[in-house]
Amino acid sequence: MSAATVTLPPISIPPHPTWPALTAAQKGALKQRIRALMQQRDAVLVAHYYTDGDLQELAEESGGCVADSLEMARFGSVQQARTLVVCGVRFMGETAKILNPEKEVLMPDLRASCSLDDGCPAALFAHFCDQYPEHTVVVYANTSAAVKARADWMVTSGIALPIVKHLSERGEKILWAPDRHLGRYVEKLSGAQDMVFWPGSCVVHEEFKSVALERLRRLHPEAAVLVHPESPESVIALADVVGSTTALIKAVTELPNETFIVATDGGIFHKMQQLAPQKRLLEAPTAGEGATCVSCAHCPWMGMNSLHNLATLLEQGGQPIEVSAEIREKAVIPIRRMLDFAAAQKRV
Ligand code: SF4
Repeated sequence: MSAATVTLPPISIPPHPTWPALTAAQKGALKQRIRALMQQRDAVLVAHYYTDGDLQELAEESGGCVADSLEMARFGSVQQARTLVVCGVRFMGETAKILNPEKEVLMPDLRASCSLDDGCPAALFAHFCDQYPEHTVVVYANTSAAVKARADWMVTSGIALPIVKHLSERGEKILWAPDRHLGRYVEKLSGAQDMVFWPGSCVVHEEFKSVALERLRRLHPEAAVLVHPESPESVIALADVVGSTTALIKAVTELPNETFIVATDGGIFHKMQQLAPQKRLLEAPTAGEGATCVSCAHCPWMGMNSLHNLATLLEQGGQPIEVSAEIREKAVIPIRRMLDFAAAQKRV
């Protein structure tokens, strides 16, 4: 089935933020100050694998968590703390708020967006969905609360495949949004028929280049190639392992290879190196010769989180994440469906 034509809005990609370098002593003092401020606010830190290594360490040291978006959502919803401080991008903060309306949800920088989210405006998406009234609407976590409110299911990359397979086995036709690469990958593996796709993509993963990757692999034939499924199909085709951030981290710890070529945001190296310090990690090539690298394997929006602006947020306060009751009541349904599905799978 051919998809209705959609003209995506232009995405404005911010420059990579730079933060003042800290000595070990300054970093230690700053972390201590943040921990004290979090205690005063009864706050817990939830950080994504793509954020800066210092934030990941602080989250773990202070009883918070470092995870992918599925686990971040789960973790946030079982916390007693009054405030959730989400270090990641805006849709993660919104998901935390949708699941925890009674809690205050703060983020170091509310401008931290995501190209998938920005490339799928709610009104345009609703119009697209209206053209497929018989399709079950499945959206990736990287979408706004308003887009989730129009969906039947939300999925993360870790659980997209079993959910789509489940729906397809029930005979449902699927409308998938917004990442077309992940959608095509899931379609191929699940055997789902009649899927239609929103044509979005992630500016970071889109940059991985298959020709340069092949060349790097020839230089390191001993290496296993790990690829996130938001990457283009030609890059996925070269992978030894395709999976979510959690699956790729697991591959580094469990595979016997000493060297890995990794095609996802470079922030993931912190956790990989922490769990497998003896292994060698190489960044998969982004821009090929002559091309312009817009991401260099580091998400500019994830880079908007640092110890510096986290401390400022906790000291001076910041605007909390707000989601209207009307949107929340609808958006919580596809999120809960996913969490219930994930919980049921664990019990099997
Ligand atoms: S890495 Fe890509 S998908 Fe992830 S937050 Fe950044 S732009 Fe969005």
